[in-house]
Amino acid sequence: MEKDDEINKEMIKKGFEERYRKIFGPDYDLFLEYSFMFPRRAIRVNTLRGSIQEVKEELCKIWKLEPIPWCKEGFWIEGERRDIGNHLFHQLGKYYVQEPASMIPAIALGPQPDEFVIDMAAAPGSKTTQIAAMMKNRGCIIANEIDTKRLKMLNSNLQRCFVMNTIITNMNGIAFANKKMRFDRVLIDAPCSGTGTIRKSFLTLRMWNERMIEKLSRLQLRLLENGFEILKRGGVVVYSTCSLEPFENERVISMFLKGRDDAIVEEIEMDVKRDRPILEFEGERYDNEVRKCLRISPQRNNTDGFFVCRIKKK
Ligand code: SAM
Repeated sequence: MEKDDEINKEMIKKGFEERYRKIFGPDYDLFLEYSFMFPRRAIRVNTLRGSIQEVKEELCKIWKLEPIPWCKEGFWIEGERRDIGNHLFHQLGKYYVQEPASMIPAIALGPQPDEFVIDMAAAPGSKTTQIAAMMKNRGCIIANEIDTKRLKMLNSNLQRCFVMNTIITNMNGIAFANKKMRFDRVLIDAPCSGTGTIRKSFLTLRMWNERMIEKLSRLQLRLLENGFEILKRGGVVVYSTCSLEPFENERVISMFLKGRDDAIVEEIEMDVKRDRPILEFEGERYDNEVRKCLRISPQRNNTDGFFVCRIKKK
């Protein structure tokens, strides 16, 4: 294990280290330590298929369940057996194996039954299934995904979880602005560099480079602008990434807010330990409103790192 750690830490590029030392300051080593830890497993009870009580009683026979403070359907799973995806209750769609930080964006979105919602980048469907459960399978969700290969997984997760209020589309998210549809809520769980999820795949470190960050941040801004465009007045858009890059997070929000007086960034009240959003990076000062965004790094709650911003349209 120790040897693996050493090998993996050698994967860290110089540019990455410099950048993340600036982001985390004295917490940089702690960030790395948690980024190399084995992820804690967790589930979210799918209330479309089973009750929290029923799932808890069944899984307690094998595992120890610990509630996730910010998601009442979420539990950390402890125990020797690692195959939580093989349990019959999983096959029956009674729970979804989901990283606890990734449960936050749908909660921040707050979808209600009978609303019209779009999940702009939906595969493999963890947040679509969560939104459908929050909507009690009522109203309508458009689950959009650009990557045809990822549609199969999205489709099978929706079926397994008994989701009945969702239409899958296979479009570029930025093309929705040309359509006449207007939504009550829009989720943009954007494609990102994934630097909050190094513990899940060390490939993230190998792939990381500054050009990729610039390219992603341009796409992310376009997705957010388009998502806001297709919102009804009074509607809510949530922008999230599992990246800890200011260029993919605070800077995207700051650029989006420029010259807009119809967008209000809202606080996200949640029982989760958080980092201070970054207000200045690489000589650029960001909009003060980014203070209201939720930024968490792995070392805060022993979860993936995530960034979430909730914006209301006036
Ligand atoms: N929301 C998903 C979930 O919780 O299961 C995870 C989404 S993942 C972070 C980002 C997704 O965006 C990927 O599946 C990727 O293929 C998709 N994507 C990338 N570019 C896109 C675009 N222009 N329009 C729509 N989806 C896009």
